[in-house]
Amino acid sequence: MSSEAAAEPLDPTPAHAPYDEVLELADRYARAWLDSVRERPIPPRAGIDAVMDALGRELPEYGEPAADVITRLAEGAEPGLIAIGSPRFYGWVIGGTQPVALAADWLVSTWDQNSGLRTITPGAVAVEEIAATWLLDLLSLPAESEVGFTTGATTAQTVCMAAARDEVLRREGWDVERDGMAGGSRIRFIVGEERHGTVDLAGRYLGLGEPIAVASDDEGRIRVDALREELAAGTGPAIVVLQAGNIHSGAYDDFLGAIAVAHEAGAWVHIDGAFGLWAAASPRLRHLVAGMGGADSWSTDAHKTLSVPYDCGIAIVRDGRAMTGALSMHASYLQATEVGADPHEKVLELSRRARGIPTWAVLRSLGRTGIARLVEQLAASARIIGDGLAELPGVEVLNDVVFTQVCVALESDAATEALSERLWADGEVLAMTSRWHDRAVVRFSVSNWGTDAAQATRTVEVVARTLAAIRAGR
Ligand SMILES: *Cc1c(COP(=O)(O)O)cnc(C)c1O
Repeated sequence: MSSEAAAEPLDPTPAHAPYDEVLELADRYARAWLDSVRERPIPPRAGIDAVMDALGRELPEYGEPAADVITRLAEGAEPGLIAIGSPRFYGWVIGGTQPVALAADWLVSTWDQNSGLRTITPGAVAVEEIAATWLLDLLSLPAESEVGFTTGATTAQTVCMAAARDEVLRREGWDVERDGMAGGSRIRFIVGEERHGTVDLAGRYLGLGEPIAVASDDEGRIRVDALREELAAGTGPAIVVLQAGNIHSGAYDDFLGAIAVAHEAGAWVHIDGAFGLWAAASPRLRHLVAGMGGADSWSTDAHKTLSVPYDCGIAIVRDGRAMTGALSMHASYLQATEVGADPHEKVLELSRRARGIPTWAVLRSLGRTGIARLVEQLAASARIIGDGLAELPGVEVLNDVVFTQVCVALESDAATEALSERLWADGEVLAMTSRWHDRAVVRFSVSNWGTDAAQATRTVEVVARTLAAIRAGR
């Protein structure tokens, strides 16, 4: 290419048009969505093919004005959107967005700070560091811990387990950061039978292989006696992953017992508390997490219980040096600071959006009491749903509803699946089928800040009506 061609100016329109028009348009579409999200049918009306047809599949030879692009996007994608923000959306553990978090997130995109380095983006890093300090306080975790804002709980636990892996091998005299994994001791990677599948994934990313699964009890809690036996059966470095909040039952492992046993064997203990860690923020519910502060690392999500927009997870590691040792990149063009770890040293990304800012906004807007009330409301709504469904003929609630999860089954797997399909078709309540203890279940995960007592009661009424209709052959 000749230098003249390279120097040719860009077409000044439409890419260089002012922001106002498109932002006003996006704002209008955003408000229309938010106005409809509480009452619209929850499932998407259109599938991927229909949305692709509406958007147009061909790469355009020439561009179109920015406003037309936004209109095309909003109108084309909308029929394919699922109303995750509905207060009657109980599918998986995913929740809505609080207004303050959404507004803060808009600013994060607008400011567009690449928040990997403390010295370069002090405004963004200050907000995230305040949020990190508050999180440790709210969750009663060791104040000296380092906190990384990740894309979710999967990457948060990957980050924590990277610190764990390097540290347990370092204690054996093996430097995995320099020498890699081959030749070092095999790490015993021990989990409960009912751990979340992403724990296995994190282990795979880190070269730990498949975990050793020890038995769990009826509610999905790791059996401490089985853990003790497994630890006694071998030697060498070990990582034990415990769980705060089983996705089917909401149950919590016995942290006091399990951590004592694991630490006695020299293991690093990580706790996956993607949604369950938040019980610690409530004086009424924190008995569920008794002893969890004794672990070495913890992972959770802000995009679940805290209702920030996707995406934000949180990685917390007591030994900050293990964390930054595993994750920092040493490069001549990045100047390390004396004052504290840079954000990029605590997550997998170098360049990163300041995704901790919406978390700060929710904490600031609710305060300690408001966060406790939010968590308590989710648990109370789950109890209303559990108690209400248990009254319906033929419905069995399979778990002890200690937190936000309710698992129900009907007289047969086919009947359970029929209920879930009918709920999906009607669209007023969305709960998903799963399998638990060899039975088909419909699982209600109460994860939305808008799910209050009235919504929970309405949910029970909808399920009662739906079941009656199915049974009457309507
Ligand atoms: C959701 C969840 C995860 C994974 O979190 P992502 O944010 O989806 O990556 C891990 N563990 C548990 C218990 C979860 O509920």
